Amino acid sequence: MRSWVASANGHADFSMANLPHGVFAPSGGAPRGGVAIGDAILDVGAAVAAGVLRGAAAEAAALPALNRFLGMGALARQDVRGQVTALLAEGAPARPELLHEASACSMRLPCVIGDYTDFYAGIQHALNVGRLLRPDAPLMPNYKYLPVGYHGRASSVRPSGVDVRRPSGQRKPGSETVPSFGPSRNLDYELELGVWIGPGNELGSPIQIGAASGHVAGFCLLNDWSARDIQGWEYQPLGPFLAKSFHTTVSPWIVTPEALAPFRMAQAARPEGDPAILPHLFDAADQASGALDVVLEVFIQTPSMTAPHRLSVGHARHLYWTVGQMVSHHSSGGCDLRPGDLFGTGTISSPEPEGWGSLLELSQGGRAPLALPDGETRRFLENGDTVIFRARAERDGVSIGFGECRGTVLG
Ligand code: CA
Repeated sequence: MRSWVASANGHADFSMANLPHGVFAPSGGAPRGGVAIGDAILDVGAAVAAGVLRGAAAEAAALPALNRFLGMGALARQDVRGQVTALLAEGAPARPELLHEASACSMRLPCVIGDYTDFYAGIQHALNVGRLLRPDAPLMPNYKYLPVGYHGRASSVRPSGVDVRRPSGQRKPGSETVPSFGPSRNLDYELELGVWIGPGNELGSPIQIGAASGHVAGFCLLNDWSARDIQGWEYQPLGPFLAKSFHTTVSPWIVTPEALAPFRMAQAARPEGDPAILPHLFDAADQASGALDVVLEVFIQTPSMTAPHRLSVGHARHLYWTVGQMVSHHSSGGCDLRPGDLFGTGTISSPEPEGWGSLLELSQGGRAPLALPDGETRRFLENGDTVIFRARAERDGVSIGFGECRGTVLG
């Protein structure tokens, strides 16, 4: 479908097929809800005020935090999507006064994030990292029975474009007998999908696997910045703490399940010999369409580069667990999820090295520095480096993208 917003037609990320929701602030203006369309942003509140978008869902999508809108669920999203599609379609009356140039706006977090949980569902990443630590048994015995995760830190999630301060912490490499405190020497990125939770559940009332997809409001890109040296010393026995909590970057647009519907695919069959999925995490429909046909790219731009260099290209199908299984597992003990909660899927790596989603993997734990095109090398990130994630889905001539997830490391 074409739009009267000329830049939307053929746009790599934000064509009429996408229409993601976010929160933006025009230059000198207050934050508000918007929909990305081409190189512009539709001001949802202005459209409501003009009477061209109507109803409680559209009003909620105009707010400077989208928690209420996400909590209204699929029917509310579909109502707004239908109205926005009609408003922006080619042939409808052009309303340029409802648009802002995206380049003149700043993006904010789309929600007030109550809780952030990071999973570990990228099995190739788990294998690659596990082999560095335990060559004979890279996966823990629980890995193929449940989606492993930990409770992350919501307060330090920031939208794309906010600089990342290199964390300090205790580091104790094997060559040293006691730890020292100082800046991380092994700062890394992790390529993940983010998941925005829509309608929540009551405390003590788990979300059944068959209903889990109804609790997912959308997707983004997520960089789980990681200080490998700090993590290596602090993480036993309770898991990551300060090595992960200093900053997490998300792409600011919520790509909806409706936009991604044409790009769903079957979850990969489990290899022979893997355990069967326990009944509380198995749903035939979830297995038939629980994976996403989304290509994921990572770029680096160092201070001396004139253009970003692609470090990897991978695919979201390499998640061992579906997002529905993450939702159901998270609530299976009774924990309540709330609208605007954020999940990370875990680092997504492909079997081939071209698709490895962290420098830890690409540099083999730092032992094999990467050669960059201008002659530089990298074991881990240096100050001034910018990491950029992009993602896109394409099928039958229709394509959508996630927009950028970008951050620059400062000392
Ligand atoms: Ca992670």
